[in-house]
Amino acid sequence: MNERAAKEAVYRIVRHSGLQPDFIVRENRGIPTAVAFVRDRQRIIEYDPKFMAKVMDSTCTNWSAISILAHEIAHHLLGHTLDPDRVRPGDELACDHYSGFILRAMGASLATAMAAMEVAGDPHGTQHHPPQHARLDAIRQGWTQALEISERKEPEPFVVQDAFRFTVRFTGDPNTYYVNANDELVWFNTFAEPIEFGILERLEGGDPKFRLSWSDQIFHVDGREAIWKRTTAGMQMLVGRMEPYGR
Ligand SMILES: [Zn+2]
Repeated sequence: MNERAAKEAVYRIVRHSGLQPDFIVRENRGIPTAVAFVRDRQRIIEYDPKFMAKVMDSTCTNWSAISILAHEIAHHLLGHTLDPDRVRPGDELACDHYSGFILRAMGASLATAMAAMEVAGDPHGTQHHPPQHARLDAIRQGWTQALEISERKEPEPFVVQDAFRFTVRFTGDPNTYYVNANDELVWFNTFAEPIEFGILERLEGGDPKFRLSWSDQIFHVDGREAIWKRTTAGMQMLVGRMEPYGR
């Protein structure tokens, strides 16, 4: 696979995300497969032309090259290449998911989207890579997700849910938490799913006004919206703020 073909493949993949292509794509005969990394602040994708040719040959489709390059692009887009020392099997599955998604978006069949993994995936997995069956599942999930999006005739209305009572922030914690209408403390994961993990109770007497708690963690909220925690030494420590939602 020559660099012209590889560059065009990468351009076509990135086109489907609506982003500007911002990758350096080049041959490297000294690596076994394909790799994504950052050098001098540039996002690079290198591939072994013989490996790519072999995979395209044994799958009898050029889509297999697209799926391998899409996987490497996902390592960049998901920020994995910012931390070259990380070894997380979940990262590989996330990139496989993206490759399935992008192949469906580009018009490939499910069998085609899985073809490269069928021939090049390791059945037992390696230190860095989960076993082949898990990776095929991830590709299938990504492919199916793209199919569902493309088959949706009416766009799903985007509704901003705002039945929250309070916004909760803790010092040194970049997350924002919310108290919902049922007085549950909620955090939203990256899929925007609510994770309810605590409870807010209004206290008799009104000072402090509220008790916020989860498992063995107990906090009090005073009338000035400050969240306090009692240290083991019995001192009250200011640890965050709880404000009415929407202010
Ligand atoms: Zn990978």
